[in-house]
Amino acid sequence: MVDEYRMFIDGEFVGSHSGTTYEVTNPANGGVIARVPKGDAEDVKAAADAAYGAKGKWANTHVSERSRILLKIADILRANADRLAELETLNHGSPIRKTKNFDIPSVADVFEYYAEIARATLGEVNPVPVPALDVTIKEPVGVAGLIIPWNFPLLMAAWKIAPALAAGNTVVAKPASVTPLTLLEFARLTKGLLPKGVFNVITGPGGVVGNAMVLNERIDLISLTGSTETGQSIMDMASRTVKRLALELGGKNPLIVLDDADVEAAVEGAVMGSFFNSGQVCATSSRIYVHESVHDEFVRKFVEATKKLVVGDPMDPGTDMGPVAYMEHRRNIERYIEIGVKEGAKMVLGGPPPAELSKGAYVMPTIFVDGRQDMTIVQEEIFGPVEVVLKFRTDDEAIEMANGTRYGLGSSVWTRDIARAAKFIRGIEAGTVWVNEHIPVFPETPWGGFKMSGTGTKELSPHALDTYLRLKHISIDLTGLKKKPWYNIVNPH
Ligand code: NAD
Repeated sequence: MVDEYRMFIDGEFVGSHSGTTYEVTNPANGGVIARVPKGDAEDVKAAADAAYGAKGKWANTHVSERSRILLKIADILRANADRLAELETLNHGSPIRKTKNFDIPSVADVFEYYAEIARATLGEVNPVPVPALDVTIKEPVGVAGLIIPWNFPLLMAAWKIAPALAAGNTVVAKPASVTPLTLLEFARLTKGLLPKGVFNVITGPGGVVGNAMVLNERIDLISLTGSTETGQSIMDMASRTVKRLALELGGKNPLIVLDDADVEAAVEGAVMGSFFNSGQVCATSSRIYVHESVHDEFVRKFVEATKKLVVGDPMDPGTDMGPVAYMEHRRNIERYIEIGVKEGAKMVLGGPPPAELSKGAYVMPTIFVDGRQDMTIVQEEIFGPVEVVLKFRTDDEAIEMANGTRYGLGSSVWTRDIARAAKFIRGIEAGTVWVNEHIPVFPETPWGGFKMSGTGTKELSPHALDTYLRLKHISIDLTGLKKKPWYNIVNPH
């Protein structure tokens, strides 16, 4: 059955002004599951106008009331968790065990977290050398334009929507065109909780809807999670309206196994780091550096453990890994696998999916060894279940190789020696360094990259609120003097 969805603008579900739609497919079998409005600049304008109209009232709604609404949203998400998890699995291909146990509970948790901490937002008193009450306050930026990727569709949306609303902004959100369904379902479930215009969702192609959001003068900030190329294009365009930007971009995250590591623990971390969500995780461990003395043991155990992953129908609770999110992405990943072979890496696990999965966007877990630092599969983000293992000899060499790409998002080091770990913690240029684990991120922990992995403030943690708050300086004269000295600012008396 093909469901018809509508966008959400100014508190109502509407079609695109052009009347056109596009099809959304199930990546597990290629079947069409929904038809969604194909929005364009006119629809963005309508949403931005609605959000602009609502921003004053929402900003002046006391944070305690905003917080109560966010907590109600979290309750509704929890009450409808099964339905949302099934829809996420249908549209994205993530295994149902993951969407039920991880994605949707995490979405609710993020709303609860920002409902709680937004009430603790403080300003500052500035110690000026004159008799004045001199303070810095934090106020909402205004209309937040949120551009969302497809890798964890509703969770990545929640990482932005919850802090934006908690901080008092109104929202125009754009899901990735291939995975819009859970955000539209979120709008349906929460309709009426937020005042009209406070929350809007536009669907349509990224290049059209996203561009229009960046160029719209009523949208005050853009928070994007997406590829580095999309971030670069947005940075270029944002100069026209001097927009505030928060960009969470690509990664090529090293996982480093030292000679004293617990190899079995590192293997477990590597299986999770490489194949969780079919490798479509910005934090994924997409290049593994192993000390030469433990390299062969690590590779043998890593391949053995990976072979045990159950790849198949994401609706089956026994499935560990489903398809990737859409057919064109499967082809991108297959191209990278061909390049890896051509450039001389040795494929020790992989190959085409079995016949019963061939209609879906399946890519089998793939492991290359004999990787070299200059290979395309070591330098570029593949964003799929493809791993490459390289050897190193010294700690300094490992740090240099870890830093040898344009990215700097996540990284991990596996060792029993905390002093050696400390050298990696200081030496690696990445927003996160895990020690003896890879991937865990919580609402309490800041997430965001260095170098070409991003710029602006962090996602998650109290720091995410800074994306959605601006500082205003206020100075109130306490002297009562009518005539103020012009020059002697430091000592006005
Ligand atoms: P993408 O860049 O193709 O798309 C991201 C979003 O931007 C989508 O909503 C898309 O429609 C929109 N978009 C595309 N072109 C646009 C344009 N010209 N102007 C404005 N918007 C545009 O990324 P994706 O394929 O959806 O997601 C995968 C990428 O996201 C990977 O590179 C991954 O590393 C990155 N990612 C980063 C993080 C992080 O926290 N750093 C988290 C998740 C994903």
